[in-house]
Amino acid sequence: MGEDIERNFLNNNIKFRWNVIQDLEKIDSVEDYPKYPVLFLTCMDPRIDINRIFQLNPGDVFVLRNAGNILTIDMLRSILITIHEYNIKYIIILGHLDCGMTKIDLLKLREKLYIKSRELIIRKGNNPYSELRNFFKPFKDVLQNINEQIDSLRDFKGFPSNVKIRGWLYDVHTGWVFETDNLRNFESTEDLMINYKDLISKKDLELVDSLISLEKDSLDPKSLIRKYEEDIPPKSIDLMNKNKSLNDVETQSTCSPKRFHNTNLSTDLLMKGSRITIPKIIVPKISVNIPEIYKRKKMSKI
Ligand SMILES: [Zn+2]
Repeated sequence: MGEDIERNFLNNNIKFRWNVIQDLEKIDSVEDYPKYPVLFLTCMDPRIDINRIFQLNPGDVFVLRNAGNILTIDMLRSILITIHEYNIKYIIILGHLDCGMTKIDLLKLREKLYIKSRELIIRKGNNPYSELRNFFKPFKDVLQNINEQIDSLRDFKGFPSNVKIRGWLYDVHTGWVFETDNLRNFESTEDLMINYKDLISKKDLELVDSLISLEKDSLDPKSLIRKYEEDIPPKSIDLMNKNKSLNDVETQSTCSPKRFHNTNLSTDLLMKGSRITIPKIIVPKISVNIPEIYKRKKMSKI
């Protein structure tokens, strides 16, 4: 079973490498500097994927993870490196609903530990329960925990004051992210959950607003032209600009739309006779380039 998992992962890496060769996967960042001066401190929960949640690419931001997005001394070590060596200006503590750290039973966990771990965590003569607590740092409330981590970072005062510290809460079930600044009215996660339906409704309205503006954008012919221009190589645009302007055509056309005024796009592009035609989107041909080295390897096997 274990070997199957390993084999699967390594086979997927072969697929990944193949996609990179074909330019279907972007590895992009040659530089180790992130695209945005942002660091996330989030939980190790496997449902959290910062790049997917915020529609980012590899190389865009720093991400630190541990159980419960807790500011530990080792997290601080990494944070200081990103601030002073990579000019990070935002630290975002991203906690999440349904965090496993709220469900840990320390006494049961203690029973599962190997003696050596137990000896490391619980030093002789001390209170075993508080030693376990100090080591594993479980918490009961995700919202309060985010605020505590923010407070610890702010109280530390060991880095420039222009570094902004924020708290966000991720809902692993809906995909929504809430700014904790907007959740100040809620004392606890329990309190939040009581009002959660209203909160989600507000977020859904945000989504509808954003969809409406997206739709308006796509209906706006200027934005369509803009998109089209981005899709075609600069040389083609030069050629088109040399052609007649749309205003020239309007004099010939009986039903030319006023909304296309002042654009320089050619008549061929937008109109045939007096009819508007939506420009065709050019889909670039993807050529599969098998590097010589791979071909040779394959040949040698035959
Ligand atoms: Zn978690």
